[in-house]
Amino acid sequence: VTTLEITDLHVKVKAEPTHPEILRGVNLVVHTGEIHALMGPNGNGKSTLAETIMGNPAYEVTQGDIRIDGQSLLDMPVDARARLGLFLGMQYPAEIAGVTNAEFIRAAINARRADDDQVPIMQFLKELDATMATLEMPEDMADRYLNQGFSGGEKKRNEILQLMMIKPHFALLDEIDSGLDIDALRIVSKGVNSLRGPEFGSLIITHYQRLLDYIVPDFVHVMKDGEIIETGGADLAKELEKTGYEHLKGGVGNA
Ligand code: ADP
Ligand code: MG
Ligand code: MG
Repeated sequence: VTTLEITDLHVKVKAEPTHPEILRGVNLVVHTGEIHALMGPNGNGKSTLAETIMGNPAYEVTQGDIRIDGQSLLDMPVDARARLGLFLGMQYPAEIAGVTNAEFIRAAINARRADDDQVPIMQFLKELDATMATLEMPEDMADRYLNQGFSGGEKKRNEILQLMMIKPHFALLDEIDSGLDIDALRIVSKGVNSLRGPEFGSLIITHYQRLLDYIVPDFVHVMKDGEIIETGGADLAKELEKTGYEHLKGGVGNA
């Protein structure tokens, strides 16, 4: 079991030093083998948490720590964190000209492996084919430039393809459900669920309960005003769908 531990995390936007903190003391422990959902209204720090865990330099940690198995990540650049097993799937994946999808994924896998342990090309291509078939992706998507001209749904599916090929210890998935129709949601969820196991943990950020019908979380957390104000099991998401977030402590109107 690998443990991702966030303790008393306070975060500011580096370019806005006079602005108040976005995260104000987040505590969260994710073990491999667990799926955590992070919910909450827009603009409350969910994406900031994911970006800060991954090491986006736009954010500054002013207090607290982020550790994997006791080792602090705070001084590590993004690539070092990726080698420790972190993966961030984004709401708006980037387009990269001149690099094909397959090249990008192979480079991402190899960057995480030792020089004498690079993935053999034939083995890679075989696994890529099989994984794309699972995700019901057209074969030519492997040879297209990364995310260029991909539809919203294709980009999301492609992120799950990257995830399944890279097999990180921890996947931070930020609103992978936004803009997906039911078929795409089902396929994306199938991909995430296929990774479930003792070596894989995930923090799934979503605004809506719908995704959690497909990927049933072990824990559900609600973030409000840069703090986790409530934690429960999968039932909590169902409850929130009915009641909304307003009645929770720190909710709109009694902050
Ligand atoms: P959520 O993902 O819950 O919708 P975010 O983490 O994206 O929330 O944003 C939380 C708050 O921090 C918002 O008010 C947002 O405008 C602000 N914020 C986040 N990132 C930046 C940034 N890079 N520059 C300026 N403000 C930011
Ligand atoms: Mg948002
Ligand atoms: Mg967000």
